[in-house]
Amino acid sequence: MDFALSDEERAVRDTVRAFITREVMPLEAEVLRRERAHQPGLDHSEVRELQLKARKFGFWGLATPEEYGGMNLPAVLQSLIWTELGRTFVPFRFGGEADNILFHATEEQKREFLIPTIEGERRSCFAITEPGAGSDAANIRLSARRDGDDWILDGEKTFITGGHDADFAIVVAVTDREKGARKGGATAFLVDRSMGWRSEFIQTMGEGGPASLIFDGVRVPHRNILGEIGQGFTLGMEWIGKGRYTIPSHAIGIAERVLQMAIDYANTRETFGTKIGTNQAIQWMIADSETELEAARWLVLRSAWTVDAGLDPRHASSMGKLYGAGMVNRVVDRVLQIHGGMGYTRELPIERWYRQVRLYRIFEGTDEMQRLIISRDLLRGYTKIGGHLA
Ligand SMILES: Cc1cc2nc3c(=O)[nH]c(=O)nc-3n(C[C@H](O)[C@H](O)[C@H](O)COP(=O)(O)OP(=O)(O)OC[C@H]3O[C@@H](n4cnc5c(N)ncnc54)[C@H](O)[C@@H]3O)c2cc1C
Repeated sequence: MDFALSDEERAVRDTVRAFITREVMPLEAEVLRRERAHQPGLDHSEVRELQLKARKFGFWGLATPEEYGGMNLPAVLQSLIWTELGRTFVPFRFGGEADNILFHATEEQKREFLIPTIEGERRSCFAITEPGAGSDAANIRLSARRDGDDWILDGEKTFITGGHDADFAIVVAVTDREKGARKGGATAFLVDRSMGWRSEFIQTMGEGGPASLIFDGVRVPHRNILGEIGQGFTLGMEWIGKGRYTIPSHAIGIAERVLQMAIDYANTRETFGTKIGTNQAIQWMIADSETELEAARWLVLRSAWTVDAGLDPRHASSMGKLYGAGMVNRVVDRVLQIHGGMGYTRELPIERWYRQVRLYRIFEGTDEMQRLIISRDLLRGYTKIGGHLA
């Protein structure tokens, strides 16, 4: 068994680390300052500038196929890169990306939606959640009714990331109530903002925020259906599946960064005439954090490896998402504790991470939904204990 990175994996990881350290981390103080003034940490043009700089290093479209100018990297490499991105709270992502399900677009849709999204000229959002349907996504109600060559969309989506900025939304709507969403009754539509939907920003405990999207008789041409009629729920699950290993990969990067901060602080802060790191209470928090971080790393890398191996990744990625999200919450909490009162201030970014990572246990499948999937797989015999080694 070989747990080492290949030469290529190490080279890519180190290049990304160097880029993040040199180009992105120096922006942290300014990002904190702006966020405290209730402004976005970086504006779109600044993110774009960084993305174009990264493109010169060859980092463009991590998951995007080569025919669209991307790198089409294996999931393990993408996971390693998401971990590097997690090491800074600067809201930066590599450019050249598009929602994975946009690649199901027709040639015409690709020209109108996919290519401009990859090039950063248009912004998308993905909308399945509704006020009455989150974990139970199959319970969506936003309806699409056929009217000649068009469909009329009525209803509301909520908690949509990027929904207040997006130029267009990928909306999963009910096209056949009798069948139900899971059994072919839902369809995905590409809906330009100019077609008439409105967005309302939602304040959250994190920086930035999602939005509600309101559809009040929005007319969408038939040619804007993404994929097939009735395929909407399957596409939605495909979209969500991607986040099941990228979110915990990001969590690992955050945990690595904050744990190092805790170690540095424990080696310098003195109480009762000695460094706090000499106390077993502090040592145990560091030891537990490192152990859980390492456990999450291998769960998540295995779930990414499962994708690359062409195996069904759902069970492994639910375990990675569940454990990775919980791990980063526990680690950030301990690191805040080790920093005492300073950890609670806005002079340090720890409280910011504390608010940010709370989301990781909620979006793209709550902890409870991951547990439901894992236990159901076992109880119904879809998966054996021991995974691919069983
Ligand atoms: C910041 C943010 C960004 C988001 N971005 C997007 C986005 O881009 N697109 C999008 O479509 N959605 C997005 N979401 C929505 C997100 O996926 C949902 O919030 C999430 O799936 C949970 O749904 P809910 O909020 O309706 O909670 P509910 O489904 O109402 O659940 C409430 C609680 O009950 C628990 N629960 C529910 N059912 C069960 C059960 N059977 N057994 C045990 N416990 C259960 C849940 O785990 C949770 O703890 C986002 C959410 C947030 C907060």
